[in-house]
Amino acid sequence: MSICENLRKLKEQIPSKVRLIAVSKTQPVEIIKQAYECGQLDFGENKVQDLVAKASQLPADIRWHYLGHLQTNKVKALLPHVTLIQSVESLKLLFEINKESAKTGRVTDCLFQFHIAKEETKFGLNWLEAVALVHSMEYHRMKNVRIVGVMGMASLTEDMEQVKKEFHTLTRVFYDLKDQFFNNDPSFKELSMGMSGDYPIALEEGATMLRLGTIIFGERKYIKETDKD
Ligand SMILES: *Cc1c(COP(=O)(O)O)cnc(C)c1O
Repeated sequence: MSICENLRKLKEQIPSKVRLIAVSKTQPVEIIKQAYECGQLDFGENKVQDLVAKASQLPADIRWHYLGHLQTNKVKALLPHVTLIQSVESLKLLFEINKESAKTGRVTDCLFQFHIAKEETKFGLNWLEAVALVHSMEYHRMKNVRIVGVMGMASLTEDMEQVKKEFHTLTRVFYDLKDQFFNNDPSFKELSMGMSGDYPIALEEGATMLRLGTIIFGERKYIKETDKD
């Protein structure tokens, strides 16, 4: 099945107000171009060097989302190309994004990534860490970042009840943050959850952004060289 067909079928299942991020990590530019030519404009990458390389070879109206663990020393290189950094998980990282954004006078949109899975290996904030972050003096001084919502990854499991519980937790976190800290902020509206194996559940739980790779592009072929960052 072609990439266009895959995208078309997905769009039939996804409400029009939900944004589909095509996760193009490990995919070459020719493949991304195929998706772009079928009208897909949002793409997600999890390595700074890959995102930068691809962005410079592909049309400028593509919106690039950064999804991976982000090292502070790579923020500067990422910023000129990125639309939304979905993986903010520390004050230190947000501080750096703010600092580098200020240098060019931009305001960078970010999501707080929350740890909702059982696996310890997955990155992200917990509730208390997020509260401490938004209460901090440093955060209050930041003028060049805007938190527009939250992101999370569910456990990699066949147990869909577990996945549902985890997405539900993220939904609660989203509304609690909105109520307590972003009440007067209409731009705090994004709930990024759902991957190829669990997106129908994410939709049920209120996702506003889905991040889908395999179901659009097929299984990823990992190449050792590009898999490290
Ligand atoms: C790879 C990745 C996805 C997409 O995963 P698929 O299972 O291929 O749909 C979504 N979100 C993040 C953060 C990822 O790293």
